[in-house]
Amino acid sequence: MKAASFLYELPEDLNTALQLLNSSDIDVLPLAGGQSLMPMMNFRVSQPDLLVDLNKIDSLKKIDSDSNSIKIGSMVKYSDMEKSDLIKEKIPLINNVIPFVAHSAIRNRGTIGGSIALADPAAEFPSLLVSLDATIELMNIKGTREVKSEDFFTGIFETDRKTNELVTSINIPINKSPKKFGFYEITRRHGDYAMAGAFVTTDGDKKEFSNSRVVLFAVSTKPLRIIDIEVFLNGNLLNDVSVQENAIDIINGYEFEGDLHNDTEAKKTYAKVSLKRALGELNG
Ligand SMILES: Cc1cc2nc3c(=O)[nH]c(=O)nc-3n(C[C@H](O)[C@H](O)[C@H](O)COP(=O)(O)OP(=O)(O)OC[C@H]3O[C@@H](n4cnc5c(N)ncnc54)[C@H](O)[C@@H]3O)c2cc1C
Repeated sequence: MKAASFLYELPEDLNTALQLLNSSDIDVLPLAGGQSLMPMMNFRVSQPDLLVDLNKIDSLKKIDSDSNSIKIGSMVKYSDMEKSDLIKEKIPLINNVIPFVAHSAIRNRGTIGGSIALADPAAEFPSLLVSLDATIELMNIKGTREVKSEDFFTGIFETDRKTNELVTSINIPINKSPKKFGFYEITRRHGDYAMAGAFVTTDGDKKEFSNSRVVLFAVSTKPLRIIDIEVFLNGNLLNDVSVQENAIDIINGYEFEGDLHNDTEAKKTYAKVSLKRALGELNG
């Protein structure tokens, strides 16, 4: 199928894009890498009246840092992040995860802003950003607001973003000693969307879990942070196998979301396997 007819604008600055997005009488959507939106339009799942293409807005394509955080513009592509020395040095977890997002052709166009605005529960970046305690910056014609990534994702393909807002950047806090991390996902084939996955992070300069985060993805309607496991892990030795086993047992008390191919029990099993392997990676 082909997309229904639509109007198209290619603004060169953020202000013009925000003005266009502010139309209340027509359905306007921003276009980033188009890797999800174009297929959705071709299948007519999405039928906007106007597309506002963000690809000429250079201010959204920057990666900046200060001593406290890294700020990634929403139009930064996966392939740009892959090449960034700053990201490699300060948040290597991002570099470890990117090869698992689709395939290089898609990563050459797909953007961080597009991934989180879409909020696919099986996507890596929404949960990755929750595990890094990132903040999402949103802008409309009236101003800017910031939302914790944990509060930004509200359901399947649902976020806290209003229709007249753009995701403009993602801010990720950085410590003096970069965090230790573990990541694992289960997929049918490399590059497919995950059937389940887990992120574990902890402060980097200690032998015990400290300030840890545990986030599961592709097993719920949105990134699933499990604070019970974090509380249990904190203060325990990183490489204690019995601690890891007890942490995984906590998953038994949780309900998971099935999908077309996997029921809720299968998802629980995948969640446990993902967490076990992510904890193993942390020590690897
Ligand atoms: C075959 C295939 C396999 C894939 N596999 C994976 C995978 O394994 N893991 C994964 O995470 N993803 C996967 N993807 C999705 C890919 O990562 C997309 O690039 C990404 O989800 C969307 O990014 P985009 O820049 O292409 O956004 P677009 O497709 O342009 O936009 C997606 C949505 O976000 C909105 N949007 C875009 N930018 C903004 C913004 N700045 N502010 C507000 N709203 C905005 C759009 O209006 C649209 O609704 C796959 C895609 C394909 C086609």
